[in-house]
Amino acid sequence: MRGRRIKEFFFDGNNDIINFMETKIRKIDKNQIDETVIQEAGEVLQRGGLVAFPTETVYGLGAHALKEEAALKTYAAKGRPSDNPLIVHIAEYEALKEMAVNIPAETDILAMHFWPGPLTMVFEKSEAVPYGTTGGLDTVAVRMPSDPVAQALIRAAGGFVSAPSANTSGRPSPTTAEHVAEDLNGKIDMILDGGTVDIGLESTILDMTVSPPMILRPGAVTSEMLEELIGEVSIDETLLGDESDKAPKAPGMKYRHYAPKAKLLIVEGDLREEVLAIRQLSYAAHREGRQTGIIATAETLPFYKYGSVKNIGTRENEKTIARSLYRVLREFDEEEVETIYSESFAVQGMGKAIMNRLEKAAGHLRISAGAVVKQQKYRRITFVSGTDSARASMAAEILRHFELKQEYVVDSRGLVVLFPEPPNQKAEAIMKSAQMTLSDHVSRQFDEENLQDDALILAIEESQKSKLLSEYGRGWNVYTLNEFVGDDTAIPDPYGKPLTAYGECFEVLCRLVSRLAEKLDSLVEEEG
Ligand code: AMP
Ligand code: MG
Repeated sequence: MRGRRIKEFFFDGNNDIINFMETKIRKIDKNQIDETVIQEAGEVLQRGGLVAFPTETVYGLGAHALKEEAALKTYAAKGRPSDNPLIVHIAEYEALKEMAVNIPAETDILAMHFWPGPLTMVFEKSEAVPYGTTGGLDTVAVRMPSDPVAQALIRAAGGFVSAPSANTSGRPSPTTAEHVAEDLNGKIDMILDGGTVDIGLESTILDMTVSPPMILRPGAVTSEMLEELIGEVSIDETLLGDESDKAPKAPGMKYRHYAPKAKLLIVEGDLREEVLAIRQLSYAAHREGRQTGIIATAETLPFYKYGSVKNIGTRENEKTIARSLYRVLREFDEEEVETIYSESFAVQGMGKAIMNRLEKAAGHLRISAGAVVKQQKYRRITFVSGTDSARASMAAEILRHFELKQEYVVDSRGLVVLFPEPPNQKAEAIMKSAQMTLSDHVSRQFDEENLQDDALILAIEESQKSKLLSEYGRGWNVYTLNEFVGDDTAIPDPYGKPLTAYGECFEVLCRLVSRLAEKLDSLVEEEG
């Protein structure tokens, strides 16, 4: 092996060394399929070789489904345990009858509705199917993909193509040809590059050998869609929830799947709590110099400031989330983040498949958002002055410059703000001289929304505190800044006075806010 990198060799199922091979990458357009490319790929499969190809779910690693050796090569290339069965892909309904026996009556109606499409059905296998393909089982999983490239390839290969996802075992499934190449370049004969897949999650697997049929893996064809056609279907209970000690019915599901290199934690609670918890966790990581990733949605993206924040899609359309999940996990692998925090998603419809993959990627690690959030007494700090044009906004901006032990939403409000106004120019001049700015600030009226259990409301003057108490009652955390930090240096009102008065006010505020920062950090220690 001198002169060649170890990486260029791998072992097949018999532990024989197979030489590094050249992987041909061929672009193909599903709207205008180049038959010569399909023929070339079909011949590779007919000869027992491996071709990765796009399907509507994820990229598949194709091999001839009726050749035992081809299945062994598939396991070797993926590094996949050989008791993890492959799905046989067909392009004609008649082909099913050659693969399976004792096909139950409901199959017809399911195939009519969902084939070609993201539904795999499991049947008793026929003699024609080698045990290599079924991982030693007497059952066979069959699917008819809808992607035109997949269909053309299956036909060119003779009608039966086994295809697990075209990734290294344990990694997130590939949704682009680049992902396939990352994992399998040099280990397979060819990759058909048909661009990004449509669905992004593996097919639904339905076991037709039991009654009622049982969902072994949730996917784009949901239990609701199935039940509408054939009545009751059951669900393998080990798929959702953390009963990971129970053996799942689908053989492959016991293996750690879809997993990123980083530790992935799913934060669970109501969405507002999840966001707050992730903010706090990522801020803590930032302070400790740990690299974190955040799986956020279009709706929550603006709330995160620390770590590598990725938009996985919009909560208004779960399909966008399904489509991006594996890509996002792979991106985190490249960035080498240590920990990933993910928001969670509603477990209904497509959400079931999304949460199933997320939970498997996380190895069922979950954190309760409520528990994280409860550890922090105050999460928002709102300074209140008369017009919110100078002192309160200065105090807020000064506080934002402290690296506190926990993250707070820091803001300011006024008690009489008739319309939003830019900050006082003298206040801004003073802030600028201290390398700070109020340029993002517009004055805003204090209102009921600012009163929350986790809000600390700090009035600049006693009279403002009294007004807050008389207007909203005593049930809230309302103090003057002086009172809260135990320092009665008066905060002068510079309004209408020369610049120097603003400078003096700034200095008092710096002193008080610095004491506030100390107090907030000491509160965290008491709680911790
Ligand atoms: P992949 O194509 O990588 O998503 O993997 C195929 C998956 O299909 C396996 O991991 C199994 O979970 C499932 N599967 C394939 N054949 C069978 C079968 N005969 N019975 C139950 N599940 C199967
Ligand atoms: Mg797979």
